[in-house]
Formats: sequence, structure tokens, C-alpha cells
Amino acid sequence: MQNEGGTVPASAREALSRLSAAGYAAFLVGGCVRDSLLGRTPGDWDITTAALPEQVEAVFAGERIIETGLKHGTVTVLLEGLPLEITTFRTETGYSDHRHPDAVAFTPSLTEDLARRDFTVNAMACSLAGEIIDPFGGQADLGKRIIRCVGDPYKRFEEDALRILRALRFAAQLDFEIAPATAAAAHALRGSLELVSLERIAVELTKLICGPAARRIITEYWEILAVPLPELAPMAGLDQRNKYHCFDVLGHSAAAVEATPPEPILRWAALLHDVGKPACFTVDEEGRGHFYGHAKRSGPMAREILTRLRFDHDTVNRVSTLVELHDYPIDPPVEAGVPDSLDKSQTDGLVASRMPSPTSAASSAEERAIRKLIGKLGVEDFFRLLDLKRADSLAHHPDYWGRVKACDRLEVLAREILAQPPCFRVTDLQIDGNDLIALGYPVGPEIGRTLNALLEAVLSGELPNEREALLTKCKRR
Ligand code: ATP
Ligand code: MG
Repeated sequence: MQNEGGTVPASAREALSRLSAAGYAAFLVGGCVRDSLLGRTPGDWDITTAALPEQVEAVFAGERIIETGLKHGTVTVLLEGLPLEITTFRTETGYSDHRHPDAVAFTPSLTEDLARRDFTVNAMACSLAGEIIDPFGGQADLGKRIIRCVGDPYKRFEEDALRILRALRFAAQLDFEIAPATAAAAHALRGSLELVSLERIAVELTKLICGPAARRIITEYWEILAVPLPELAPMAGLDQRNKYHCFDVLGHSAAAVEATPPEPILRWAALLHDVGKPACFTVDEEGRGHFYGHAKRSGPMAREILTRLRFDHDTVNRVSTLVELHDYPIDPPVEAGVPDSLDKSQTDGLVASRMPSPTSAASSAEERAIRKLIGKLGVEDFFRLLDLKRADSLAHHPDYWGRVKACDRLEVLAREILAQPPCFRVTDLQIDGNDLIALGYPVGPEIGRTLNALLEAVLSGELPNEREALLTKCKRR
């Protein structure tokens, strides 16, 4: 089997040939077959075999073996550093909890093993000789770019509700349509997603929103996504009633998702950046819609949603901070000054699209704002914030894409600042509390106040971050 990413790795071939030399049928299966036929590089190389788990262990005696899920028939073998999941042909029955089979039975039949798999494009196997075993029309569906359940979609989604989200996730990742009967069953049974663990849902949602067709899937299937994310429902159909927007709040958010680089933190931030808008919606006398304070509201909502989905603290913090700051004007016009507090309440204004001319006053105000934000967010998330702002802008009416240029300019400025010796926090100053004590300052709060004042002076460009200059500034007369 050939693909653009190269051929099947030598260790996967080696595993197939060792199993067949020992008399057991063995095939590559699932995602790696699908991705290879599509010319994509597979993430992992799974093997399905007639050998029972203890027979697999005997064939690979002497190799590193991890007993991943022995009772379900899965053994992971590390060959030349590559982990290979080797699973015995099996059937599954029961599913009384709509998620896990009540019973798993090993079978000598490859076709039975393929029949338990979720979608036709995931239910193909490939022999060592390169023969594709495809009893459910997976290749035809790959050609038509369709996600279709193996067998009756109602039955398959009733067995395991996670498959509903997996259908959306594969459609988003592969840019496929979902077959009409599969889509209808997914809609009808969406409520059963309530029974699926939130961790599993979060994994599928993250893969979905990082997919190239995420925007289409979010807008087409939001009613399904609103089962684990009920906050999306009031965003759908909410006409923003202002000249800046040509989509409803959900359509705008989905467009912002598409416009961000496909990595989880940014894509979650884009999806949730306006989640507080429905609660902040007002209409003025002229009939114009406003969302005063929406970013401040969206930040805590994003925190609550991601915490509920059991994301780790770091992800929750990063995403909710980006959401809270998405509207923060980094490049205010000179007369507006730079807010000292990042907690200043936000409006839906597109201040940043009014590009200040690069006068020295403007650039020093910007420089200060950039340094402050880098100090608060760190370099990585500062650039993420610019990406989020660019995406937010591109998801507005095309007349209001000006912020993209403003962000590009801020990025250039930020890179210039970063090329200089760093000073974003009190600890970056070239002097510390001990120096102040040596100058005669009493131990106590005045030390902290003085260091903060020095930092402000350095951030605003009033003082260089040099030891002599800082010491001279705070010498006591
Ligand atoms: P990825 O590139 O995301 O790893 P994949 O197709 O390999 O895609 P996995 O979740 O790793 O997806 O699952 C491996 C295979 O196991 C699938 O291709 C499918 O055949 C089968 N499978 C996984 N989860 C399910 C499920 N919930 N129901 C039925 N079959 C499943
Ligand atoms: Mg996989």
C-alpha cells in the first residue's frame, strides 16, 4: 500500500509477516487503510488478526509488549520504536449503556470484525500483499467523500452514542459529507450523547473543531453539538443587527474557527470567543444591535464550559484568557490612551480597525501595551491573541477586515520588541529588592511599589532597563 506520506512502515510489515508466518491471518485496518487510500499520512498503524491475545504475545515474545486492553483483545507491540495496536478479530454485543458493549467475543471472521466498526471508510482492511478487503463499500464512499455507518445507522448510534460525534469529527477532518440516513439518525438520537463521558466528548470535539471543514460542520450540525455545548443554541440564528456583521453569532464564530490556525487552544478560543453575546444583546433606538461587555462575559463562560468538559487547567486558563481579551484594543488611537487595567470592561467596538498613524507617541503607547500583554500572557499566547483577533476580524463583514492589517503591524512591532533584551515583569528588571535595601529603603511594601514604578517607567520607554540608570533613579537624596 502506497501513500503520499510513504509506504507502510517496515515494522508494520514485519508484524504482519510474523503473524502470518505463525499461521494467523493479519491485516492493517481502520484509520491507516482509510488515510493511505486518501493519500494522507496515517497517525497510527492498527493491525487486526485471527490470533488470540496470548498467541499475539507468543509471536512477539522478546519484544516490548504493553497489555493495552487484553480482555478486549488488544495488545500493543513496540517494534523498532513504533507502537502497533494488534487486536484479535472480534464481535461486540449488548451496549445497554449506549457506549460500551456488554460482551466481546473473538471470531475467526475478518468480515465480522469489520462489521462492528463505525463507518464504511473505517471498515476496510489491507493484507501484506496490498489487497483491500472492503465488504461495506468503504472505497466507494471514499470516492464520493461520504461518512456512512456500517449497517443501520439508528442501530449503530443506539449501540454507541459517541459514534454520532465521531461522524461529525471525521466529516470535519476529511471534509466529507454525512450520508443522509446517517445524518438523520445522528440528529434523531443526539440526546443520547448525554450518556457519553465528557472526556470522550471533549476529545472528539477538539478533533472536530481542528478539522479543515469545521466551519461547515458547526453550522450544519450545531443542534447535535449543542447537546454537550448548550451555550451554542442561543448563538444560532441571533441576528447581530449591525453593519459590522454579515453572519449570526454562531455563523460568525464558525467563520472565526476556520480563520484560525488549526490548533486546539486557538480553535476553542475562536469557537467560544462570543459565547457571552446572547446574554449581552441590546438593540438601540435606531434598531442597531450591541453586545456591551460580551468579552468579559464570554471569558468566564469559556472557563465553565472547558472545565465541565474536563480540560486540564492550563488549557482552560489559556483559552478563557484569550476569549476575555479578544476584543482588547492593543492598538488604541493615541487619544484613547492605554488602559492600565486589563480588566477594563470591553465593548463590541472595532477600535483596532482605526489604525493610528505610526507617530512616536502612538508607537510608544503600542509598545507599552504590547509589553504589558506579553508580560501577562507570555509570548506564545500573545501571538495567539493576534491570531484570534485576525480571525475575529475576517469573520466580520468584509468592510471591517481592517484589524487584520493592524494585527500584522502589531506582530512586526512585537517581534522587534522581543529582539531587545527582555523586560516585561518586575523580575526582568536589572535591579531587585536587595539593591533597594542597599540604597537604604526599609524592608516592606515600599520596595514592591518602587520596583513596580520602575517597571512602568521602563515599559513606557522613559527609562532604559540598565542597572546604573535604575539605581540613579531611585537613589535617596
Ligand atoms: P484517527 O486518525 O483519529 O486515529 P481512526 O480511524 O484510527 O482515526 P480510532 O479512534 O483510532 O480512529 O479508531 C480506530 C478504528 O477503530 C476506527 O477506524 C474504527 O474502525 C474503529 N472504531 C473506533 N472507535 C469506534 C467506535 N466507537 N465504534 C465502532 N468502531 C470504532
Ligand atoms: Mg487511530
